[in-house]
Amino acid sequence: MTEQKTEKHEFQTEVRRLMDIVINSLYTDREIFIRELVSNASDALEKLRYIQLMEKEIYDESLPLEIEISTSGEDNTITFTDYGIGMSRKELLENLGTIARSGSRSFVEALEKSSTEGGDLIGQFGVGFYSSFMVADSVEVFTRGYRKNSEHLVWQSCGDGTFEIKKGKGHRRGTKVIVSLREDAKQFSDPDVVRDILKKYSAFVPFPLKLNGEQINTTEAIWLRNKNDITDQEYGGFYRFQTNSFDEPRYRFHFFSEAPIDMNVLLFVPEDNMERLGFGRMEPAVGLYSRRVLIDESPKNLLPDWMRFLKGVVDSADIPLNISRETMQDSSLVKKLNSAITKRFIKFLEQSSIEDPKSYGDFYGKFGFFIKEGVASDFEHREQLQELLRFESSRKEEGDLVSFKDYLSGMGEDQEEIYYLLSSARDAVENSPHMEFFRKENIEVIFIYEPIDEFVMSTLSEYNKKKIVSADSVDIGAAGEPSDVPSEEEKSLCGWMKEVLGERVGDVRVSSRLVDSPVAAFNSDSAMTQGMKRIMRNINSGAEVSSIVRLEINSGHALIKNLISIREKDEELAGIIAEQLFDNALLAAGYMENPASIVGRINSILERLGSV
Ligand code: ADP
Ligand code: MG
Repeated sequence: MTEQKTEKHEFQTEVRRLMDIVINSLYTDREIFIRELVSNASDALEKLRYIQLMEKEIYDESLPLEIEISTSGEDNTITFTDYGIGMSRKELLENLGTIARSGSRSFVEALEKSSTEGGDLIGQFGVGFYSSFMVADSVEVFTRGYRKNSEHLVWQSCGDGTFEIKKGKGHRRGTKVIVSLREDAKQFSDPDVVRDILKKYSAFVPFPLKLNGEQINTTEAIWLRNKNDITDQEYGGFYRFQTNSFDEPRYRFHFFSEAPIDMNVLLFVPEDNMERLGFGRMEPAVGLYSRRVLIDESPKNLLPDWMRFLKGVVDSADIPLNISRETMQDSSLVKKLNSAITKRFIKFLEQSSIEDPKSYGDFYGKFGFFIKEGVASDFEHREQLQELLRFESSRKEEGDLVSFKDYLSGMGEDQEEIYYLLSSARDAVENSPHMEFFRKENIEVIFIYEPIDEFVMSTLSEYNKKKIVSADSVDIGAAGEPSDVPSEEEKSLCGWMKEVLGERVGDVRVSSRLVDSPVAAFNSDSAMTQGMKRIMRNINSGAEVSSIVRLEINSGHALIKNLISIREKDEELAGIIAEQLFDNALLAAGYMENPASIVGRINSILERLGSV
């Protein structure tokens, strides 16, 4: 007999880094490697079950779809066996040699950025197969693919940066993973310890899960049960199993319906928004099932894009079992599911916001971005979605939120429009000259802080027939004539300031809305809001974005009165002051691009003022 040929390979750099972290981790919950290996076995069985539906030729067709775990205290091993799809040589190289999975990749990226210990992150994300090296001296994977002519292969690694692949002798379909435990991880060969861990993490594996022959789980599909019979613990356990996580879902939405289409739906909103924490764009994570059989765990069109923060299950008996994933994506059934589920989910959120505004506010703080994205992109549901928007407002304390509905109910009889103001922060907006008029008139203004909010406002453009307008571009002075007609002196000052400031201002006029500020700048560009301009400049720093503003002066303010007299004595100095007032106005309005020029000018003003 010839010697078995063994190929030696190096792990991809990222895997090596990941394994270093995993091996040296002081992470206390090392037990999660069991959850990870069970979940891989379960995935492999799901895939096989799916392939069976497609009526492909399958090797070892009659093997039961189950997972067997065995422990040996003597050998100090724990072994995971499944009769799933197995892996080819190429798959072994890719799946257990690189980081193909986006979850592990973002884990590594998160580690680079983060200052926390790797262990905390392992707990939050799970690191898949490689987590076995938290407890292993050596891991062996025996595998055989489901195709008639697949090879039987053995993969082995001691976690030292390399792995080996050679041909094996067995001939069962599927995968067996033998974990040889480190001295300090002996407890994982004790069946009593392992049983507890399986019950904790893997109670909802949809295949029989056996430990040394004894079945551990009940393989029921929780989403098909009546919700009155399901405890919070069961829901939580199912959620954690499905998402490989440890958190408690903040919302769950479980319903059953027969029309317009048969569906059992169980949706969860997680505790945290991973996108917001910087882990990259989420993939759809509501799996599509047909009578408990997983059709697609990450279906693209099942729900609108903005709902990608949801986890859970949609099971519809109307979906034909032998449909291919590709046709699935465009099928009219999926469109019907999409529309029915989305509508109900939005209604559910609205209801939750009424029942418990505080929890909803908390949800909105973390997941509000998705709602806004929905308003901006999901035309079909925009009208329903706008009811889910929440804002800070001039009538509320920082952190308290109002809806459009709340805003409308607080409006005076003669108020025709809804006002909002974009700013960088609460105290900046409170002190903005743009607020003076509204404060004086006791008109509520919605405060927004991010360009996406402004984008949402301009996308909506009205709510309940009331126009939504930015408080910095509205021509409020024109609504009621200024009480005092400007004097000749004031008119002349305006004309002169326009000359001094040149192209940068569209117009300088005496204000009828300013109370405390000497001057204020307003966006006089009807085509583009200041927020949009900010975005455009951010995207392309060299972009020529027009920044025409209107300057209003407060003729009652001492500074303006002084400016008139300074202009008579020293026009040059008055010019510098006018420039400065203009910059101050831009700064206060949040329009200033480059505040650096200001400092030098202030110094020269101070110098010259000494000599007036
Ligand atoms: P994930 O399960 O999130 O994809 P893992 O690191 O746990 O990441 O596993 C990597 C890949 O290895 C899996 O996607 C799968 O293709 C393959 N794999 C792991 N275990 C098995 C198994 N028991 N049977 C078949 N394939 C497996
Ligand atoms: Mg996995």
